[in-house]
Amino acid sequence: MAAAEPDERPPLDLVVELGETFKRLRMDRHVVLLRAYYRARTKGGTSLWDDAFVVEWFRLLRLRRHDSYYVVQPRNSNCRACGAAGRESYHYTSAVWPGGARMTCAACGAAWLELAPEGAA
Ligand SMILES: [Zn+2]
Repeated sequence: MAAAEPDERPPLDLVVELGETFKRLRMDRHVVLLRAYYRARTKGGTSLWDDAFVVEWFRLLRLRRHDSYYVVQPRNSNCRACGAAGRESYHYTSAVWPGGARMTCAACGAAWLELAPEGAA
């Protein structure tokens, strides 16, 4: 999973937007964990999620300012970098949510998104 920039703390308005997106996608467990993160940020305490993990979800669900971090490729596609280099693509699903998945290439580490046709998010 890609790390956040060192100075990047997820803006709270975007954290709220992420929570609304989780709700819309009925990702109830994520809503609970994000609430704990928000509480820890605003009132102190502990959270299972850290800043980098929250930023990663901004990227996966393509929230504003994070919508072009990952390239979106057609479903069942192969690693473009390996394809361009004439290598066979060996990739796996490294994250999945209703309407999308992140694919990661085991050969070169490239990652991309594949979205459901209706782009559920
Ligand atoms: Zn690759």
